[in-house]
Amino acid sequence: MLVSGKTRIYGIVGNPVWHSLSPYMHNAAFREYEMDCIYVAFPARSARCVVDSVRCFGVCGLSITAPFKEEILEYLDSADESCEMIGAVNTIKYERGEVEGINTDWIGAANALGKKINPGEKRCLVVGAGGTARAVVYGLKRKGAEIMVVNRTVEKAESLGRDFDVSYGSLNEIAKFNPEILINTTPVGMEPRCGESLVPGEILSSVSVVMDVVYKPRRTRLLEDALRAGCRIVEGLEMLLEQGVAQFEWWTGRKAPRKSMAESIGLAGDEQ
Ligand code: NAP
Repeated sequence: MLVSGKTRIYGIVGNPVWHSLSPYMHNAAFREYEMDCIYVAFPARSARCVVDSVRCFGVCGLSITAPFKEEILEYLDSADESCEMIGAVNTIKYERGEVEGINTDWIGAANALGKKINPGEKRCLVVGAGGTARAVVYGLKRKGAEIMVVNRTVEKAESLGRDFDVSYGSLNEIAKFNPEILINTTPVGMEPRCGESLVPGEILSSVSVVMDVVYKPRRTRLLEDALRAGCRIVEGLEMLLEQGVAQFEWWTGRKAPRKSMAESIGLAGDEQ
């Protein structure tokens, strides 16, 4: 890739960001289409300085990650309805002097899950009540799922339940709902504490599809338990791919080269 004076700049901002897989995914897409664009990782100091820098340097688009997803909302010129409902932005674009925001996490979760099952009218249990849970619930609601949210801090589950008009409870109530679909939206199971899961293995035998947003490791303890119980699984890496596909298409107006993007993050074959 030759960087010229006309190269358009995209990137990811967060703190830390060195571990992100998004640079592999988006640079693979730019290479595939021979676009004069580059995607880099920016460890940032604050949400305000991110938006100021976008305007100052003419950065074309950014993925936004922790800890700026919520705070950045107040500095944007506009944000779509999903950002307002979820309370977080994960993608911004700078065009015609305006900084716009959208949230592609809900699209990523809905599309990744949708490859295995249509959640419409299915009982879906969402474990966790943080930003990712809100994105997942937003996507599930749009598909007409019947949703229950459980969380370690019940007050947070209650607040999410109220905002989205869904049932809520504590982690002890996981078995009570008898879900057909179960989605972990917490970081539990992530490296280096790979052996952990919030979901008792025994309840999984009656679940059809289990999804985990954690993607390091690819096969979390929850997903291993789910496979043993005969469930179909959706990996966090598939959600990452789908949210990246939606970002690329919003930034460039072109159909994303999904195969190259998937291969760049180690997804290949039947996961696509
Ligand atoms: P967040 O807003 O901080 O929420 C974290 C949630 O996890 C809260 O509900 C929290 O419960 C719960 N939690 C954390 N540690 C726990 C523990 N030890 N036991 C029980 N519950 C625990 O975080 P987030 O932004 O939603 O991110 C969550 C995960 O999603 C991260 O691992 C992130 O990397 C991943 N993610 C993946 C993708 C993807 O494309 N695959 C996209 C976005 C995010 P309390 O309320 O009780 O604290």
